[in-house]
Amino acid sequence: MVAYLEHKDLANQQIDAQRAQQIRDAVRRVQDQIAAAEQKAGRAPGSVRLLAATKTRDVGEIRAALDAGIRVIGENRPQEIQIKAEPLHDDMTRLSVGYHLIGQLQRNKINKVIGVVDTIESVQSAQQAEQIGKRVLAHHYAPINVFLEVNESGEASKSGCAPDQAYDQALAVAHVPGVHLTGLMTIGAHVDDVHRISAGFAALRELREKIAASGEPGTQHCTQLSMGMTHDLAIAIAEGSTQVRIGTALFGPRAFI
Ligand SMILES: *Cc1c(COP(=O)(O)O)cnc(C)c1O
Repeated sequence: MVAYLEHKDLANQQIDAQRAQQIRDAVRRVQDQIAAAEQKAGRAPGSVRLLAATKTRDVGEIRAALDAGIRVIGENRPQEIQIKAEPLHDDMTRLSVGYHLIGQLQRNKINKVIGVVDTIESVQSAQQAEQIGKRVLAHHYAPINVFLEVNESGEASKSGCAPDQAYDQALAVAHVPGVHLTGLMTIGAHVDDVHRISAGFAALRELREKIAASGEPGTQHCTQLSMGMTHDLAIAIAEGSTQVRIGTALFGPRAFI
């Protein structure tokens, strides 16, 4: 069990006006940062979507972000989704907010998230996609969108499939019934060297192009690149990101991991 779940009431709906204002201001700031990075990279305004990474944030904080214009949220843990999905359901339906899983999914938790989230960004292999697809079909749900997560930095602490297997895995995922391969996801290298961070993002972009160029059935929807977090969003946008996943810059530092 994750310790912070015992320290913070994630179902809390009451936040004070000052905290709500802080989150609204932060959403605007990050939107401005994205717009500036798009312009600098010569990309069309609005070509990069902002996903709010909401791990450790409560319902009230997430609602403030929705009020400020956030239209996709990403959670890391099935347990947090179980706590927050119900109280957020009406707002998310009314505003058509996308709900993504961006953290690792154990096999015994698949049933807890399908039917709740619309996208799983953290699929590690074709084998895992098959486990997900089987359960989606068994429940008669609509196919779920999946991203293949690729460990471009090669850092041992990171999840994701190895870059040298990613092409074959992606083509195999594209064939799995019950899932739609809609993109690729990576976490930037945890280093100060901008060139190394860029190289990882560029490799993901090239991989996506290669997958789309394969002409294999199911690869035509693989259009998204989920890359870029608080500290590397501008680098990711310069390298072709279509979605950045931002936590700290929207909600402040996390009190718990
Ligand atoms: C926490 C998290 C983020 C957001 O990270 P920040 O540095 O707080 O912006 C993005 N992606 C994943 C997979 C995460 O776990």
